[in-house]
Amino acid sequence: MIDTDALIVGAGPVGLFQVFELGLLEIKAHVVDSLAAPGGQCIELYPDKPIYDIPAVPRSTGRELVDSLLKQIEPFGATFHLGQEVTVVRKEADGRFHVETSKGTRFLAKTVFVAGGVGSFQPRRLKVDGLDKYEGTQLFHHVKTPAAFAGKQLVIVGGGDSALDWALHFAQDGPDKAESVILLHRRDGFQAAPASIAKMRALCDAMQMQFIVGQITGLEEHEGRLTAVKVTGGDAVTRVVPLDALLVFFGLSPKLGPIADWGLDLERKQVVVDTEKFETSVPGIFAVGDVNTYPGKKKLILSGFHEATLAAFGAAPYVFPDKRIQLQYTTASPKLHKLLGVE
Ligand code: FAD
Repeated sequence: MIDTDALIVGAGPVGLFQVFELGLLEIKAHVVDSLAAPGGQCIELYPDKPIYDIPAVPRSTGRELVDSLLKQIEPFGATFHLGQEVTVVRKEADGRFHVETSKGTRFLAKTVFVAGGVGSFQPRRLKVDGLDKYEGTQLFHHVKTPAAFAGKQLVIVGGGDSALDWALHFAQDGPDKAESVILLHRRDGFQAAPASIAKMRALCDAMQMQFIVGQITGLEEHEGRLTAVKVTGGDAVTRVVPLDALLVFFGLSPKLGPIADWGLDLERKQVVVDTEKFETSVPGIFAVGDVNTYPGKKKLILSGFHEATLAAFGAAPYVFPDKRIQLQYTTASPKLHKLLGVE
Protein backbone atom coordinates (compact mmCIF):
# COMPACT_ATOMS: atom_id res chain seq x y z
CA MET A 1 0.00 0.00 0.00
CA ILE A 2 1.52 3.31 -1.12
CA ASP A 3 0.66 6.34 1.03
CA THR A 4 0.40 9.54 -0.95
CA ASP A 5 -0.90 13.09 -0.64
CA ALA A 6 -2.25 13.06 -4.17
CA LEU A 7 -3.01 10.40 -6.74
CA ILE A 8 -3.38 11.58 -10.34
CA VAL A 9 -5.33 9.36 -12.72
CA GLY A 10 -3.99 10.07 -16.20
CA ALA A 11 -0.63 11.31 -17.47
CA GLY A 12 -1.95 13.43 -20.34
CA PRO A 13 -0.81 17.07 -20.57
CA VAL A 14 -3.23 18.12 -17.83
CA GLY A 15 -2.30 15.30 -15.43
CA LEU A 16 1.36 16.24 -15.95
CA PHE A 17 0.75 19.93 -15.24
CA GLN A 18 -1.24 18.89 -12.16
CA VAL A 19 2.02 17.47 -10.78
CA PHE A 20 3.59 20.91 -11.21
CA GLU A 21 0.83 22.89 -9.52
CA LEU A 22 0.66 20.41 -6.64
CA GLY A 23 4.45 20.49 -6.36
CA LEU A 24 4.46 24.27 -5.88
CA LEU A 25 2.18 23.70 -2.88
CA GLU A 26 4.51 20.96 -1.58
CA ILE A 27 2.02 18.21 -2.36
CA LYS A 28 3.69 15.03 -3.60
CA ALA A 29 1.94 13.04 -6.28
CA HIS A 30 1.83 9.58 -7.78
CA VAL A 31 0.60 9.34 -11.38
CA VAL A 32 -1.06 6.32 -12.99
CA ASP A 33 -1.78 5.86 -16.70
CA SER A 34 -3.03 2.89 -18.64
CA LEU A 35 -0.66 3.72 -21.48
CA ALA A 36 2.98 2.72 -21.50
CA ALA A 37 4.20 6.32 -21.85
CA PRO A 38 3.06 9.73 -20.53
CA GLY A 39 1.42 12.29 -22.83
CA GLY A 40 -2.19 11.17 -23.35
CA GLN A 41 -3.77 12.32 -26.62
CA CYS A 42 -0.71 14.46 -27.53
CA ILE A 43 1.45 11.35 -27.80
CA GLU A 44 -1.15 8.78 -28.87
CA LEU A 45 -3.00 10.82 -31.46
CA TYR A 46 -0.78 13.63 -32.75
CA PRO A 47 2.86 13.38 -31.58
CA ASP A 48 4.25 15.10 -34.68
CA LYS A 49 1.48 17.62 -35.37
CA PRO A 50 2.06 21.20 -34.26
CA ILE A 51 -0.09 22.87 -31.59
CA TYR A 52 -0.36 26.67 -31.90
CA ASP A 53 -2.51 27.69 -28.93
CA ILE A 54 -0.43 27.01 -25.86
CA PRO A 55 0.11 30.44 -24.26
CA ALA A 56 3.58 31.81 -24.98
CA VAL A 57 4.55 28.72 -26.97
CA PRO A 58 3.92 29.77 -30.59
CA ARG A 59 4.42 26.27 -31.98
CA SER A 60 5.10 22.91 -30.41
CA THR A 61 4.39 19.37 -31.56
CA GLY A 62 2.46 17.04 -29.28
CA ARG A 63 5.69 15.28 -28.38
CA GLU A 64 7.61 18.52 -27.74
CA LEU A 65 4.86 19.76 -25.44
CA VAL A 66 4.93 16.56 -23.42
CA ASP A 67 8.74 16.60 -23.24
CA SER A 68 8.60 20.19 -21.96
CA LEU A 69 5.98 19.31 -19.35
CA LEU A 70 8.06 16.35 -18.17
CA LYS A 71 11.08 18.63 -17.84
CA GLN A 72 9.03 21.25 -15.99
CA ILE A 73 7.74 18.74 -13.41
CA GLU A 74 11.11 17.05 -12.87
CA PRO A 75 11.89 18.94 -9.63
CA PHE A 76 8.84 17.46 -7.95
CA GLY A 77 9.86 13.83 -8.40
CA ALA A 78 6.40 12.40 -9.02
CA THR A 79 6.30 8.61 -9.24
CA PHE A 80 4.79 7.21 -12.44
CA HIS A 81 2.94 3.90 -12.61
CA LEU A 82 2.44 3.30 -16.32
CA GLY A 83 0.75 0.51 -18.25
CA GLN A 84 -1.94 0.12 -15.60
CA GLU A 85 -5.46 1.36 -15.36
CA VAL A 86 -6.96 2.76 -12.17
CA THR A 87 -9.90 0.47 -11.58
CA VAL A 88 -11.04 1.22 -8.02
CA VAL A 89 -11.41 4.51 -6.13
CA ARG A 90 -13.19 4.14 -2.80
CA LYS A 91 -13.49 6.51 0.16
CA GLU A 92 -12.32 5.01 3.45
CA ALA A 93 -13.76 5.79 6.88
CA ASP A 94 -10.86 8.18 7.65
CA GLY A 95 -11.65 10.25 4.53
CA ARG A 96 -8.70 8.98 2.49
CA PHE A 97 -9.14 7.15 -0.80
CA HIS A 98 -8.30 3.53 -1.46
CA VAL A 99 -7.12 3.35 -5.07
CA GLU A 100 -6.31 0.19 -6.98
CA THR A 101 -4.93 -0.46 -10.44
CA SER A 102 -5.35 -3.29 -12.93
CA LYS A 103 -1.86 -4.49 -11.99
CA GLY A 104 -2.74 -4.64 -8.30
CA THR A 105 -0.84 -1.49 -7.23
CA ARG A 106 -2.69 -0.03 -4.23
CA PHE A 107 -2.63 3.47 -2.82
CA LEU A 108 -4.03 5.30 0.15
CA ALA A 109 -4.44 8.88 -1.09
CA LYS A 110 -5.52 12.04 0.69
CA THR A 111 -6.76 13.51 -2.59
CA VAL A 112 -7.48 12.14 -6.08
CA PHE A 113 -7.21 14.06 -9.35
CA VAL A 114 -9.07 12.52 -12.24
CA ALA A 115 -7.24 13.69 -15.36
CA GLY A 116 -8.50 10.82 -17.48
CA GLY A 117 -9.22 12.83 -20.64
CA VAL A 118 -11.55 11.00 -22.95
CA GLY A 119 -10.86 7.83 -20.97
CA SER A 120 -8.18 5.22 -21.15
CA PHE A 121 -7.14 4.20 -24.60
CA GLN A 122 -7.78 0.58 -25.40
CA PRO A 123 -6.69 -1.14 -28.60
CA ARG A 124 -9.60 -1.88 -30.93
CA ARG A 125 -9.77 -5.64 -31.15
CA LEU A 126 -10.26 -8.13 -33.93
CA LYS A 127 -13.43 -10.05 -33.15
CA VAL A 128 -12.81 -13.68 -34.03
CA ASP A 129 -14.00 -16.49 -31.77
CA GLY A 130 -11.18 -18.12 -29.79
CA LEU A 131 -8.54 -15.51 -30.67
CA ASP A 132 -8.30 -13.61 -27.37
CA LYS A 133 -6.59 -16.43 -25.49
CA TYR A 134 -3.45 -15.90 -27.60
CA GLU A 135 -3.06 -12.30 -26.39
CA GLY A 136 0.55 -11.72 -25.41
CA THR A 137 1.82 -15.03 -26.78
CA GLN A 138 0.84 -14.97 -30.45
CA LEU A 139 -1.63 -12.09 -30.67
CA PHE A 140 -0.32 -8.53 -30.17
CA HIS A 141 -1.83 -5.06 -30.31
CA HIS A 142 1.45 -3.26 -29.81
CA VAL A 143 5.11 -4.13 -30.21
CA LYS A 144 7.12 -3.86 -27.05
CA THR A 145 10.18 -5.88 -28.07
CA PRO A 146 10.67 -5.89 -31.84
CA ALA A 147 13.50 -8.45 -31.60
CA ALA A 148 10.98 -11.03 -30.33
CA PHE A 149 9.46 -11.15 -33.84
CA ALA A 150 12.72 -11.66 -35.76
CA GLY A 151 12.76 -14.78 -37.96
CA LYS A 152 9.01 -15.36 -37.51
CA GLN A 153 6.11 -15.67 -39.95
CA LEU A 154 4.06 -12.53 -39.25
CA VAL A 155 0.59 -11.54 -40.28
CA ILE A 156 0.02 -7.82 -39.68
CA VAL A 157 -3.55 -6.52 -39.84
CA GLY A 158 -4.60 -2.90 -40.38
CA GLY A 159 -4.46 -0.01 -42.82
CA GLY A 160 -3.01 2.84 -40.75
CA ASP A 161 0.46 4.10 -39.98
CA SER A 162 1.17 1.55 -37.22
CA ALA A 163 0.34 -1.43 -39.44
CA LEU A 164 2.39 -0.05 -42.33
CA ASP A 165 5.34 1.04 -40.17
CA TRP A 166 5.68 -2.34 -38.47
CA ALA A 167 5.17 -4.26 -41.72
CA LEU A 168 8.04 -2.26 -43.27
CA HIS A 169 10.17 -2.65 -40.15
CA PHE A 170 9.91 -6.44 -40.12
CA ALA A 171 10.07 -6.92 -43.91
CA GLN A 172 13.26 -4.96 -44.47
CA ASP A 173 16.82 -6.09 -43.82
CA GLY A 174 17.86 -5.42 -40.24
CA PRO A 175 18.24 -7.18 -36.89
CA ASP A 176 14.45 -7.66 -36.51
CA LYS A 177 13.77 -8.99 -40.03
CA ALA A 178 10.99 -11.57 -39.99
CA GLU A 179 10.95 -14.79 -42.00
CA SER A 180 7.85 -13.53 -43.80
CA VAL A 181 5.48 -10.57 -43.54
CA ILE A 182 1.91 -10.57 -44.81
CA LEU A 183 0.01 -7.31 -44.50
CA LEU A 184 -3.73 -7.82 -44.37
CA HIS A 185 -6.30 -5.05 -44.79
CA ARG A 186 -9.98 -5.17 -45.65
CA ARG A 187 -9.52 -2.94 -48.70
CA ASP A 188 -6.79 -1.78 -51.03
CA GLY A 189 -6.61 1.71 -49.56
CA PHE A 190 -4.66 3.00 -46.56
CA GLN A 191 -4.77 5.83 -44.05
CA ALA A 192 -1.04 6.14 -43.74
CA ALA A 193 1.88 8.26 -44.89
CA PRO A 194 2.11 8.12 -48.71
CA ALA A 195 5.84 7.31 -48.50
CA SER A 196 5.09 4.22 -46.36
CA ILE A 197 2.43 3.01 -48.79
CA ALA A 198 4.84 3.43 -51.72
CA LYS A 199 7.58 1.59 -49.83
CA MET A 200 5.18 -1.25 -48.95
CA ARG A 201 4.17 -1.64 -52.61
CA ALA A 202 7.83 -1.65 -53.67
CA LEU A 203 8.65 -4.39 -51.13
CA CYS A 204 5.69 -6.45 -52.41
CA ASP A 205 6.97 -6.06 -56.00
CA ALA A 206 10.39 -7.21 -54.79
CA MET A 207 8.71 -10.25 -53.12
CA GLN A 208 10.00 -9.17 -49.71
CA MET A 209 6.48 -9.07 -48.27
CA GLN A 210 2.89 -9.67 -49.38
CA PHE A 211 -0.26 -7.60 -49.19
CA ILE A 212 -3.63 -9.37 -49.09
CA VAL A 213 -7.04 -7.73 -49.21
CA GLY A 214 -9.38 -9.60 -46.91
CA GLN A 215 -10.64 -10.21 -43.41
CA ILE A 216 -9.86 -12.88 -40.85
CA THR A 217 -12.86 -15.15 -40.50
CA GLY A 218 -11.42 -18.09 -38.58
CA LEU A 219 -8.43 -19.75 -36.97
CA GLU A 220 -6.46 -22.97 -37.22
CA GLU A 221 -4.94 -24.31 -34.02
CA HIS A 222 -2.74 -27.24 -33.12
CA GLU A 223 -1.88 -28.39 -29.61
CA GLY A 224 -2.74 -25.04 -28.03
CA ARG A 225 -0.93 -22.97 -30.63
CA LEU A 226 -2.37 -20.71 -33.27
CA THR A 227 -0.97 -22.07 -36.54
CA ALA A 228 -2.91 -20.13 -39.18
CA VAL A 229 -5.71 -17.67 -39.84
CA LYS A 230 -8.45 -18.11 -42.40
CA VAL A 231 -8.68 -15.05 -44.60
CA THR A 232 -11.74 -14.38 -46.69
CA GLY A 233 -10.92 -12.12 -49.62
CA GLY A 234 -13.03 -9.71 -51.63
CA ASP A 235 -13.56 -12.62 -54.09
CA ALA A 236 -15.33 -14.53 -51.23
CA VAL A 237 -12.63 -17.22 -51.36
CA THR A 238 -11.22 -18.26 -47.96
CA ARG A 239 -7.50 -18.95 -47.83
CA VAL A 240 -5.45 -20.41 -45.00
CA VAL A 241 -2.50 -18.20 -44.05
CA PRO A 242 0.07 -19.84 -41.73
CA LEU A 243 1.69 -17.71 -39.02
CA ASP A 244 3.74 -17.59 -35.85
CA ALA A 245 2.34 -14.24 -34.67
CA LEU A 246 -0.62 -12.02 -35.46
CA LEU A 247 -0.16 -8.26 -35.01
CA VAL A 248 -3.39 -6.27 -35.04
CA PHE A 249 -3.31 -2.46 -35.44
CA PHE A 250 -6.87 -1.19 -35.57
CA GLY A 251 -6.06 1.96 -33.59
CA LEU A 252 -7.03 2.92 -30.08
CA SER A 253 -10.47 3.79 -28.85
CA PRO A 254 -11.00 5.83 -25.70
CA LYS A 255 -13.24 4.38 -23.00
CA LEU A 256 -14.28 6.30 -19.89
CA GLY A 257 -14.10 2.86 -18.32
CA PRO A 258 -13.82 2.49 -14.56
CA ILE A 259 -14.08 6.28 -13.91
CA ALA A 260 -17.84 5.86 -14.44
CA ASP A 261 -17.99 3.52 -11.42
CA TRP A 262 -16.48 5.75 -8.74
CA GLY A 263 -19.73 7.35 -7.63
CA LEU A 264 -18.99 10.73 -9.23
CA ASP A 265 -21.81 12.77 -10.70
CA LEU A 266 -21.60 12.48 -14.48
CA GLU A 267 -23.18 14.38 -17.32
CA ARG A 268 -22.96 12.84 -20.77
CA LYS A 269 -20.03 10.63 -19.68
CA GLN A 270 -18.13 13.58 -18.22
CA VAL A 271 -17.40 14.34 -14.61
CA VAL A 272 -19.33 17.30 -13.21
CA VAL A 273 -17.15 19.80 -11.31
CA ASP A 274 -17.48 23.25 -9.76
CA THR A 275 -15.46 26.06 -11.29
CA GLU A 276 -13.93 27.28 -8.05
CA LYS A 277 -11.88 24.21 -7.23
CA PHE A 278 -12.77 21.76 -10.00
CA GLU A 279 -13.91 19.40 -7.29
CA THR A 280 -16.34 16.60 -8.13
CA SER A 281 -19.47 15.58 -6.25
CA VAL A 282 -17.18 13.56 -3.92
CA PRO A 283 -15.18 15.94 -1.68
CA GLY A 284 -11.47 15.28 -2.09
CA ILE A 285 -11.78 14.05 -5.67
CA PHE A 286 -11.01 16.66 -8.33
CA ALA A 287 -11.43 16.35 -12.09
CA VAL A 288 -9.37 18.34 -14.59
CA GLY A 289 -8.90 18.45 -18.35
CA ASP A 290 -11.04 16.81 -21.01
CA VAL A 291 -12.74 14.48 -18.51
CA ASN A 292 -14.70 17.21 -16.71
CA THR A 293 -17.69 19.34 -17.58
CA TYR A 294 -19.05 22.68 -16.36
CA PRO A 295 -20.90 25.54 -18.00
CA GLY A 296 -18.76 26.91 -20.81
CA LYS A 297 -16.22 24.06 -20.77
CA LYS A 298 -13.82 24.03 -23.73
CA LYS A 299 -11.72 20.92 -24.25
CA LEU A 300 -8.42 22.70 -24.67
CA ILE A 301 -5.08 22.09 -23.05
CA LEU A 302 -4.88 25.66 -21.74
CA SER A 303 -8.26 25.25 -19.98
CA GLY A 304 -6.91 22.10 -18.34
CA PHE A 305 -3.84 23.97 -17.11
CA HIS A 306 -6.04 26.60 -15.44
CA GLU A 307 -8.24 23.90 -13.90
CA ALA A 308 -5.19 22.05 -12.53
CA THR A 309 -3.99 25.27 -10.86
CA LEU A 310 -7.24 25.92 -9.02
CA ALA A 311 -7.70 22.23 -8.20
CA ALA A 312 -4.29 22.17 -6.50
CA PHE A 313 -5.30 25.12 -4.29
CA GLY A 314 -8.64 23.40 -3.68
CA ALA A 315 -6.89 20.23 -2.54
CA ALA A 316 -4.33 21.84 -0.24
CA PRO A 317 -6.66 22.03 2.82
CA TYR A 318 -7.18 18.24 2.64
CA VAL A 319 -3.43 17.66 2.71
CA PHE A 320 -2.46 20.42 5.12
CA PRO A 321 -5.58 21.13 7.20
CA ASP A 322 -3.72 23.51 9.53
CA LYS A 323 -1.67 25.45 7.01
CA ARG A 324 -2.61 28.80 5.50
CA ILE A 325 -2.01 28.49 1.77
CA GLN A 326 -0.71 31.62 0.07
CA LEU A 327 -0.28 32.40 -3.57
CA GLN A 328 3.38 32.95 -4.35
CA TYR A 329 5.11 33.99 -7.56
CA THR A 330 7.71 31.65 -9.05
CA THR A 331 9.73 34.69 -10.10
CA ALA A 332 10.09 36.07 -6.61
CA SER A 333 9.50 33.44 -3.95
CA PRO A 334 12.65 31.98 -2.34
CA LYS A 335 10.52 29.11 -1.05
CA LEU A 336 9.36 28.22 -4.57
CA HIS A 337 12.92 28.60 -5.86
CA LYS A 338 13.98 26.01 -3.31
CA LEU A 339 11.19 23.65 -4.38
CA LEU A 340 12.10 24.17 -8.02
CA GLY A 341 15.77 23.63 -7.29
CA VAL A 342 16.76 27.00 -8.80
CA GLU A 343 18.31 28.69 -5.77
P1 FAD B 1 -5.72 13.12 -22.28
O1 FAD B 1 -4.67 13.76 -23.13
O2 FAD B 1 -6.84 12.43 -22.95
O3 FAD B 1 -4.99 12.11 -21.30
C1 FAD B 1 -5.74 11.34 -20.41
C2 FAD B 1 -4.91 10.15 -19.98
O4 FAD B 1 -5.62 9.47 -18.93
C3 FAD B 1 -4.68 9.14 -21.09
O5 FAD B 1 -3.31 8.93 -21.24
C4 FAD B 1 -5.43 7.89 -20.60
O6 FAD B 1 -4.75 6.69 -20.95
C5 FAD B 1 -5.42 8.09 -19.08
N1 FAD B 1 -6.51 7.40 -18.37
C6 FAD B 1 -7.85 7.54 -18.53
N2 FAD B 1 -8.54 6.76 -17.68
C7 FAD B 1 -7.60 6.11 -16.95
C8 FAD B 1 -7.67 5.16 -15.90
N3 FAD B 1 -8.84 4.72 -15.39
N4 FAD B 1 -6.52 4.69 -15.39
C9 FAD B 1 -5.32 5.12 -15.88
N5 FAD B 1 -5.20 6.01 -16.88
C10 FAD B 1 -6.32 6.50 -17.39
N6 FAD B 1 -5.96 20.94 -27.68
C11 FAD B 1 -5.43 22.20 -27.72
O7 FAD B 1 -5.49 22.92 -26.72
N7 FAD B 1 -4.82 22.66 -28.86
C12 FAD B 1 -4.71 21.91 -29.99
O8 FAD B 1 -4.19 22.36 -31.00
C13 FAD B 1 -5.24 20.57 -29.96
N8 FAD B 1 -5.13 19.75 -31.04
C14 FAD B 1 -5.66 18.50 -31.00
C15 FAD B 1 -5.54 17.66 -32.11
C16 FAD B 1 -6.08 16.39 -32.10
C17 FAD B 1 -5.93 15.50 -33.31
C18 FAD B 1 -6.74 15.92 -30.92
C19 FAD B 1 -7.33 14.54 -30.88
C20 FAD B 1 -6.85 16.74 -29.81
C21 FAD B 1 -6.33 18.04 -29.84
N9 FAD B 1 -6.43 18.88 -28.73
C22 FAD B 1 -5.87 20.12 -28.77
C23 FAD B 1 -7.12 18.46 -27.49
C24 FAD B 1 -6.10 18.06 -26.43
O9 FAD B 1 -5.27 17.02 -26.92
C25 FAD B 1 -6.84 17.62 -25.18
O10 FAD B 1 -7.58 18.74 -24.70
C26 FAD B 1 -5.82 17.20 -24.10
O11 FAD B 1 -5.08 16.08 -24.53
C27 FAD B 1 -6.56 16.86 -22.81
O12 FAD B 1 -5.60 16.48 -21.89
P2 FAD B 1 -5.95 15.55 -20.65
O13 FAD B 1 -4.67 15.41 -19.89
O14 FAD B 1 -7.17 16.09 -20.00
O15 FAD B 1 -6.40 14.16 -21.30
